[in-house]
Amino acid sequence: MAQLELVGHSRISEETLEQVRSGALDGWSAQRVLEWGLDQFAPRISLSASFGSPEGLVLVDLMHRIDPDRTRVFTIDTGRLPQETYDLMDRVRDRYRIEVGVYFPQPERVQAMVRERGLNLFYESVENRRLCCGVRKVEPLKRALADLDAWIAGLRREQSVTRSEVRAVEIDQVHDDRIKLNPLARWTREDVWSYVKKHNVPVNALHAKGYPSVGCAPCSRATADGEDERAGRWWWEQAESRECGIHDGYEDQGSGI
Ligand code: SF4
Repeated sequence: MAQLELVGHSRISEETLEQVRSGALDGWSAQRVLEWGLDQFAPRISLSASFGSPEGLVLVDLMHRIDPDRTRVFTIDTGRLPQETYDLMDRVRDRYRIEVGVYFPQPERVQAMVRERGLNLFYESVENRRLCCGVRKVEPLKRALADLDAWIAGLRREQSVTRSEVRAVEIDQVHDDRIKLNPLARWTREDVWSYVKKHNVPVNALHAKGYPSVGCAPCSRATADGEDERAGRWWWEQAESRECGIHDGYEDQGSGI
């Protein structure tokens, strides 16, 4: 945790915090929220994109239109991503000519976890699944956020029961009170896909094969018509537990791993 304490929240003015707390930004357009975020925090603000859902790519495109030089993007390579996701990362780098900062899990922790619980531990219990997400996603995310005052995510309220209260700009208590921007909070799925089509935004090839949301290969599947759009993520669990810890706050759980 020492790394995070270096952030220094005095960087974020009380005026900015008040603006966020007031909820005044919640009615703003996605573009206006992004412009505000870049003006307030650049270069200490970055988009977190999984390259597994169109929302992150819409945000790359929006940010790039606002200011290519301040478009900063990071992602987490868990080591279990499908090839289509890696292909998309390269396409985005080529098209927008931006660097994608890739963060990896700590090899010693992955090795110890797999030795103790197996390669496919996540199917055995929610505890195991959260441990794996903790080691492969949550811990690298902490390192990715270490030099940031604010981060941007593609969460939308209608995506699932776990996201119905998402605000356009919030104080992220899970990550040491950084500012978190969810510029697409009020967008519908139709809004996202209409933007993708209009601007020819590159997206994950697995969407065309019935995956509305793509995460790690063993934990994602195609969905049927009428299913919740995150129903293909950790489909063997109850809907209420289907978050990886990046947005809902449980810690990477220990047991010395
Ligand atoms: S999504 Fe699955 S494979 Fe990926 S980190 Fe979480 S449990 Fe592990």
